[in-house]
Amino acid sequence: MHQLIGNPQRRVFLLSAAVLLLSGCKPVEATGPSSSALRPRTVAPVPATSAAAPIPLVSPEPEPAVPASGPEPTTRSQEQIIAEFSGRSPSYWGLQAPNVLQVLPEPAAGIALTLDFCGGPGGNGTDHVALKTLKHLGIPATLFLNARWIHHNRALTRELAAEPLFELANHGTRHAPLSVAGNSAYGIPGTQSSGQVYEEIMSNDNLLTEITGKRPRFFRPGTAYLDDVAAEIALALGVVPTGFSINADAGATYPASVVAAETAKARPGDIIISHGNHPGSGTGAGLSAAIPALLDKGYVFTTLGTALP
Ligand SMILES: [Zn+2]
Repeated sequence: MHQLIGNPQRRVFLLSAAVLLLSGCKPVEATGPSSSALRPRTVAPVPATSAAAPIPLVSPEPEPAVPASGPEPTTRSQEQIIAEFSGRSPSYWGLQAPNVLQVLPEPAAGIALTLDFCGGPGGNGTDHVALKTLKHLGIPATLFLNARWIHHNRALTRELAAEPLFELANHGTRHAPLSVAGNSAYGIPGTQSSGQVYEEIMSNDNLLTEITGKRPRFFRPGTAYLDDVAAEIALALGVVPTGFSINADAGATYPASVVAAETAKARPGDIIISHGNHPGSGTGAGLSAAIPALLDKGYVFTTLGTALP
């Protein structure tokens, strides 16, 4: 039995979850692939839920999901990144570029739940139901914060940084798909050069470092789309480009029942993507419905940083 099953707050919380399941949800933002993405290293890139979504250019070559070497403190300047990468042409565009962390390294001790806080118009809110769920159940999670969201939620960012359960990570500066060639995803223009990739990563990296006192280790681009060269730039800057293996909420557009069903598919090693910036969506209620059942199965949760020491 899992150590958290005896959490006295859990029963009360389940009642709260049941009530919340009855609350309404509304589509808010479409990001991420279909929910059927399972083990990305063995499947082709998954198209977006939108018919107008971009199609990956090529299938990825089998690559280790985990970079051979972990992130190291970077001393590279923007000029050095431009000099090193500006002559490179990408051969992949999508969610599963080589070097992107999509599942935890084996043997995986747990499930990594991640929540994105995308910011921007309509995206600067906070799903307190989701955060309270995690705190009440004692669930570790990695929170990917975008700079726009941080600017609207400075005090809360500090609170989240001080919460031992949570690890803060980098969700970009402008929430741009990470491209060295100006590719777009879901109609959102991507960065256009290696220099802009540097800015997209490092501006928010500096902001998070200033607020939390330590550099974030993991980076997920806005929309999670990136090319292979941009993924290499992230590694060169000392951060792990991070994807996912289970899309729990499709950009906070799924109703709670679907969020719960998708989350329930998680097994040790999976990285779940969901969103923490859309109060009123089905995400918080869906997570609160699904997580206790996963705990009952004996599964544990982990942050990415704990899983990749
Ligand atoms: Zn996002």
